[in-house]
Amino acid sequence: TQATFDNIKATDPKIDAFLTLNEDAALKQADAIDAQGIAADQPLAGIPVALKDNLVTKGLKTTAASKILENFNPVYDATAVSKLANAQMVTVGKTNLDEFAMGGSTENSAFKTSKNAWDQTKVPGGSSGGSAAAVASGQVPVALGSDTGGSIRQPAAFNGIVGIKPTYGRVSRWGLIAFGSSLDQIGPMTRSVKDNATILSAIAGHDDHDLTSSTQAVPDFAAELNDATSVKGLRIGLPKEFLAEGVDDGVKSAILAAADTYRKLGATVDEVSLPHNKYGVAAYYIIGSSEASSNLQRFDGIRYGYRADDVKNLEDVYVKSRSEGFGEEVKRRIMLGTFSLSAGFYDAYFLKAAKVRTVIINDFKAVLKDHDFIMGPVAPTTAFGIGDEIKDPITMYMNDVLTIPVNLAGLPGLSLPAGFSNNLPVGMQLIGRPFDESTLYKAGYAFE
Ligand code: GLN
Repeated sequence: TQATFDNIKATDPKIDAFLTLNEDAALKQADAIDAQGIAADQPLAGIPVALKDNLVTKGLKTTAASKILENFNPVYDATAVSKLANAQMVTVGKTNLDEFAMGGSTENSAFKTSKNAWDQTKVPGGSSGGSAAAVASGQVPVALGSDTGGSIRQPAAFNGIVGIKPTYGRVSRWGLIAFGSSLDQIGPMTRSVKDNATILSAIAGHDDHDLTSSTQAVPDFAAELNDATSVKGLRIGLPKEFLAEGVDDGVKSAILAAADTYRKLGATVDEVSLPHNKYGVAAYYIIGSSEASSNLQRFDGIRYGYRADDVKNLEDVYVKSRSEGFGEEVKRRIMLGTFSLSAGFYDAYFLKAAKVRTVIINDFKAVLKDHDFIMGPVAPTTAFGIGDEIKDPITMYMNDVLTIPVNLAGLPGLSLPAGFSNNLPVGMQLIGRPFDESTLYKAGYAFE
């Protein structure tokens, strides 16, 4: 644990992955583990973990990278966090993100921009960019992220690591600061598929605090992986829309090479179609923003965090605290969401988006009926330059065209490294049937 902090202090001035370190408590916890010894049934004891700073941690500052929560100290731990704590993993700190997980580059953080582990002039992706950069740069072996529209998978891809967006309901969202409640999932970010599988088993499962968490049994995903893991006979779908215009040539060729690898390993790879994939981004920005506008109402200047000074009345407290406390992108989403939900516009926007969502779900169902999983790129490009896209929200939104539909459909999506293009990592995404993370891990492990 001490070595972890020494390393973070040496490397983080360059990477800027962390917002808060938990040094005193972590070293104390490590001492206690040393004193007590590691039990055979506690294989994770003493392993350092970093947490995206939208997971609440008891007594450890949790900001969601927002000025409005700058000095917020939660009074409880998120369920995923307490599960790791019960396994005696050591929380070393809280990682940077786009404010309230809204963004794809960490440039929307109120505090700092994290850097890509491979090239510090590039973004680490987002919104779990701090978690991805921390893992990829060797600061920690594991971090947790959250994924509403790609926020685990895209930064994992940009940093050449493994990340999973589990099936909706696989992991409890209790204690994850809500963005889009019908889309959000917590998931692990690691350097190998097996590590990822290990941590997902540790955080998954039903939780009375989150009634959308599933009662499905949680397999020991890592135990299912071994040398004999085989993709022989599996049917893989490669949607033609995933290699269409807008996807960089270098990304395309990495994915086509991966398809060949799977064929050589005995799987079949067919061209399939997800014809409504292109409507995913539009539907997501209505649904996600609508849910966000509702979820963020609790930040009113009274209950949590930042309160503006110099206010005349109650309404002034709300308006000033929110105007000063939220950043630009968050305000954009609140306005978009409030508009989409308002009387007179609801039918044309929210309801329409909800119908599009169903059509997208049906596209996936049709393909997954006779395919074990879908493969494709995570993102159309490799990591872009810091400052290159932040001024242009639509371009930024389009980066998630391949990840967003997976959240809309609630399916599991595994992101794993598939080579390089122009010296930057390319990420491959494997999308599975609901609650079939096992097949994704097996296929990822066979490829890796
Ligand atoms: N980049 C997407 C957005 O800005 C996804 C974010 C996420 O998954 N949290 O909404």
